[in-house]
Amino acid sequence: PFSYVPPGRNHLFVPGPVNIHDRVLRAMNVPGQNHRDPWFAQFFKDCLEDTKLIYGTKEATPFIFPGTGTGGWESALCNTLSPGDKVICFRYGLFSHLWIDMMQRLGLDVITVDRPWGEGADEAILEDLLRKDTEKKIKAVCVVHNETTTGVTSDIGACRKAMDAASHPALLLVDGVSSIGALEFRMDDWRVDVAVTGSQKALSLPTGLAFVAASPKALEAMKSAKLKRVYYDFADQLRTNPSGNVPYTPSLSMLYGMRESIKMLREEGMENVYARHHRLAEGARKAVEGWGLKLLCKNPRWRSDSLTVVETPAGIDSNKVVKAAYAKYDLSLGIGLTQLNGKVFRIGHLGNMNELMLVSGLAGAEMAMIDAGVPIVPGSGVSKAIEYWQQTSAVIKTRE
Ligand code: PLP
Repeated sequence: PFSYVPPGRNHLFVPGPVNIHDRVLRAMNVPGQNHRDPWFAQFFKDCLEDTKLIYGTKEATPFIFPGTGTGGWESALCNTLSPGDKVICFRYGLFSHLWIDMMQRLGLDVITVDRPWGEGADEAILEDLLRKDTEKKIKAVCVVHNETTTGVTSDIGACRKAMDAASHPALLLVDGVSSIGALEFRMDDWRVDVAVTGSQKALSLPTGLAFVAASPKALEAMKSAKLKRVYYDFADQLRTNPSGNVPYTPSLSMLYGMRESIKMLREEGMENVYARHHRLAEGARKAVEGWGLKLLCKNPRWRSDSLTVVETPAGIDSNKVVKAAYAKYDLSLGIGLTQLNGKVFRIGHLGNMNELMLVSGLAGAEMAMIDAGVPIVPGSGVSKAIEYWQQTSAVIKTRE
């Protein structure tokens, strides 16, 4: 029947939106409230302060916009740059492509550095381009930290080193949408000027908030930046946020959820959060090896700990795997995007995730691949992952 809902739960393994913890769901379950009542000011100041944890910053100014990661991109560009400004951006997947498209539509002069999809930001190329820019015309270097299309994590610290080696003053703008809160991010140490993320990724909230942090240098650049900005204007936030006010209606239940989510990250400890993501990703990679399949990302230095992108063998449409997973096992896997469609599927394991949850995702992927005609032995991937996790899983802090 049309209204039939399968028993049990959906197994959500896309790289965002991700699974929302019960604690966060409960925290968001609040009646309508007035953000102009006196309680809100301290609450919102605490919200902003909380977010510094995920960026690894003490120095940057955080902003929270109702919106999504894409809005965060727009705020990063519009608040720091002027029409016609030259910017560099690597392109190695759909998200870097879309960010470049936004830059062009805003009237920026983009130097696009195309890299194979499956590789990351090449620091030597960056350094070379910056060295050649003797007149310092390039105003920003834009890097997608974790390309969610390909499962590739670029090395932002190394990009900063390349910029320093070229003694270049450009701003460093980073899309951390599928990294911040899951993968190590050291905004102050790497001297990132604007960092961007969205609520439905590592923070494990519903979609609807864009998180942005700006360095003192970015706020200085704002003073002469001429791109038009209205909704995402930092200046409106800077005028209101310090006293706990907002320029427009805040998404209150999302803010409650965010506070709970960051509380959970704090309880776990960010180093443990990063270690958990690495452990989960390693297990997923062992499963891929056990299946006898290949990761899209060939060079270990780029491999993402927030998602795993698996190539299906030649002649087997990866969409069939994703379809079977959803139709038979209530498992949501990520499809291959644009030029990778039909060639790969994506397993997201960021945010609110643990080993046994991921076992279910890997087991379902295994069954769905067999359904789609991939010649794999049942258990061949799962056995590798569980062997690894049995040996490496950490004892839960409160259960020792
Ligand atoms: N950047 C990356 C790396 C992403 O993965 C996404 C979304 O998946 C975006 C940007 C766009 O974010 P949103 O869909 O929240 O606007």
